[in-house]
Amino acid sequence: MNQNTTAQTEELFKKIISHSKEYGFIYPNSEIYDGLSAVYDYGAYGAELKNNIRSYWWQAMTYMHQNIIGIDAAIFMHPTTWKASGHIDAFNDPLIDNKDSKKRYRADVLIEDHLARLQDKINKETEKAKKKFSNFDEELFCTTNLRVKEIKEKINQIEQRFKAALENNDLHEIKQIILDCEIACPISGTRNWTDVRQFNLMFATQLGSISEEANTIYLRPETAQGIFVNFLNVQKTARMKIPFGIAQTGKAFRNEIVARQFIFRMREFEQMEMQFFVRPGNEMQWYEYWKEQRLKWHLALAISSDFYRFKDHIKLAHYANAACDIEFKFPFGFKEIEGIHSRTDFDLSNHEKYSGKKQQYFDTEENKSYTPYVVETSVGLDRLFLAILSVAHKEETVENEIRTVLSLPKELAPIKAAVFPLVKKDGMPEMAQKLWDDLKYIGKVIYEDKDTIGRRYRRQDAIGTPYCVTIDNETSTNETVTIRDRDTMQQERIHISKVFAYIEERTSIRNLLRKL
Ligand code: ATP
Repeated sequence: MNQNTTAQTEELFKKIISHSKEYGFIYPNSEIYDGLSAVYDYGAYGAELKNNIRSYWWQAMTYMHQNIIGIDAAIFMHPTTWKASGHIDAFNDPLIDNKDSKKRYRADVLIEDHLARLQDKINKETEKAKKKFSNFDEELFCTTNLRVKEIKEKINQIEQRFKAALENNDLHEIKQIILDCEIACPISGTRNWTDVRQFNLMFATQLGSISEEANTIYLRPETAQGIFVNFLNVQKTARMKIPFGIAQTGKAFRNEIVARQFIFRMREFEQMEMQFFVRPGNEMQWYEYWKEQRLKWHLALAISSDFYRFKDHIKLAHYANAACDIEFKFPFGFKEIEGIHSRTDFDLSNHEKYSGKKQQYFDTEENKSYTPYVVETSVGLDRLFLAILSVAHKEETVENEIRTVLSLPKELAPIKAAVFPLVKKDGMPEMAQKLWDDLKYIGKVIYEDKDTIGRRYRRQDAIGTPYCVTIDNETSTNETVTIRDRDTMQQERIHISKVFAYIEERTSIRNLLRKL
């Protein structure tokens, strides 16, 4: 990104944050006490939008597949769960402080951002050359252009060192990479760094009222473990046969070192996870299947495919034999929105080891018992919310005025429609109330009779309401109303009896599910 576009995207991001607050989507938490860092509350329209995104995920997982069912496990779990899952020993991030600015960073993120900046340089050189030569061959260019070759070699070297350092948990080497790459603190501009230290991300609390008897328990850092410990309960009670999946949405908590970028990285957030249990040996085939399925789910929202890309993990987590992220182009660059992991039999085997209870499945077709392998899809509800909001937010000039509109997918819009009587007389409010009574079964519908009609339209545009229906002078004579489309601003006149079907057909989550 050049400086101009960086400034523009920063500006856009600021606008999204202030728009979210002004229009009741997201507020800083405990604001009257000056807020709590990296914790946010969802307002009236935010809660509706979040519910709709959650429903789309839940229905896509559990209604669209006979072999996937949903559960709702508790946030608190027996503390041994986290020993077995590896979180007590290994759920750490490497942190580093800049001694001058006193700012704290994730050391791995500093290196990843540096690599992204180098890659940007290559992209810029390539773009320049593309414009210059009509028969441009990108592969040939990248292998012959000296500057590009040099940067590529640099990236390779850093990546190799970084991968080895992460695998060997070599914190000294991670710091050395930061020094060798001359990475400076964005605030102080200096390279005066502390050593790198590990930091466990789990929040601990006490169970029980008498502290001596109390046990340390943790707020779950992922929802997945609630699925693993219930694997046999669910398999038996719902009579599931492998391959099958268990889906769950719910809160997770992480004491993030650097919690910035609005709702992108919070300390309390919501995950939507599905664990798919398969025969050992079949996991790579299912891993590929779920990569494809999950991208399809995102693309059904009709956001351009340019906003998505897959990225393989440089370092595999302690439980995985393959892992990638789906990254989304947020206003601050491509970042992870969803993880797809082949978790092997790590979790079930460890729960068997720590609990002493068999976690095996008897496969009637193979006539033998085994510990299933697992492919996981894990997406952050809040990150999805931010992704959808940032693409939807638009400012356009209409009749010499700025119109701010949220062009949200109509199926996810918090308010499905607004009903307006043109004026508060001539029986119009009564007819509008009656129409509202009919439409309320579609979803949240607003009745509004204050202000000019133009202002009422603008307010609905700003919260992303797809349709505004106006009762006017003609309604009492020929039973027609106008229906205005948020995106085109075009109005059509239709019979009042057709309004329900018109809006329901165009805003139902069914439309998204049919694309899968
Ligand atoms: P990151 O690398 O950004 O810290 P992660 O790899 O630790 O993320 P996972 O453990 O794979 O994330 O969690 C699955 C999903 O949960 C992520 O893709 C993301 O959408 C969401 N998520 C994780 N941490 C947070 C957070 N602190 N705030 C909001 N969403 C989060």
